[in-house]
Amino acid sequence: MTQLTFLAVHAHPDDEASSTGGLYRLLANQGVRTVLVTCTNGECGDSPTGAKPDADEHDMDEVAAVRKVELDNAVEILGVSRLVRLGYRDSGMMGWPHNANDGSFWGTPVELAARRLADILLEERPQVIVTYNEIGFYGHPDHIQANRITLAALELLDYEPTLYYNAIPDSVFAEMRKRWEEEDEARREEGKTSSALEEVEEEIPEQMSTPDDQISAAIDISAVNSVKFDALAAHASQIADSFWMKMGREAFCETNKTEWFLRVTNPQKIDGLVTDLFAGYR
Ligand SMILES: [Zn+2]
Repeated sequence: MTQLTFLAVHAHPDDEASSTGGLYRLLANQGVRTVLVTCTNGECGDSPTGAKPDADEHDMDEVAAVRKVELDNAVEILGVSRLVRLGYRDSGMMGWPHNANDGSFWGTPVELAARRLADILLEERPQVIVTYNEIGFYGHPDHIQANRITLAALELLDYEPTLYYNAIPDSVFAEMRKRWEEEDEARREEGKTSSALEEVEEEIPEQMSTPDDQISAAIDISAVNSVKFDALAAHASQIADSFWMKMGREAFCETNKTEWFLRVTNPQKIDGLVTDLFAGYR
């Protein structure tokens, strides 16, 4: 039997856990070889003391070093067979001066990074690949660039894999929005002026969710969502204060039972909604 291999192209350390953590652990449990390509070192993340990239005490190299260890730990938890770091510098959010930094992923010509990715793909020959859509799921330059280099790398292959984009159905996004509104209500009662909804909207410049009837894969991760929680928690420097971690394991597992994807290439001629990204290959 042919070895089944899965590969995801992610922008930063922690993206593998947040959008594909359940999928990685499930596939590893099924004996599928799993490869993770992480494009940047995540230098623009929070420093271990919580400092933002524009703060004086924020040290990009220190942040990268911390996130390197965190990614190693997450990869261990998710049972990833092979991690490849492309090692580009984090480009920060759209419009930040970091977009133009030396070695930034956003500033790297697509064809150069695509060639490196294609070499990995030709070596591993994954049947299934996951990355983000054209708007990088939420508009982050490094996520957009991950989409661009993946599409360009596919053009350099001698075979056609099945490509999926990660996705959130409109109905689920509406539920999330409701929770942020409830949190705002609670904050107002406590006399706070900060808004969870505004924080989220600042980070999400474009439509982030997908009409439910366009979703082409819904993966049941309920058997492994506690492991997904651990993989997210491994990225403590970025995530300890997040909405998900504050929920705690039990509530997280109660609300995180599915990961959704959108099929982009379809060499196996699959029809409709699947519950396995390797449908047509097994
Ligand atoms: Zn990211």
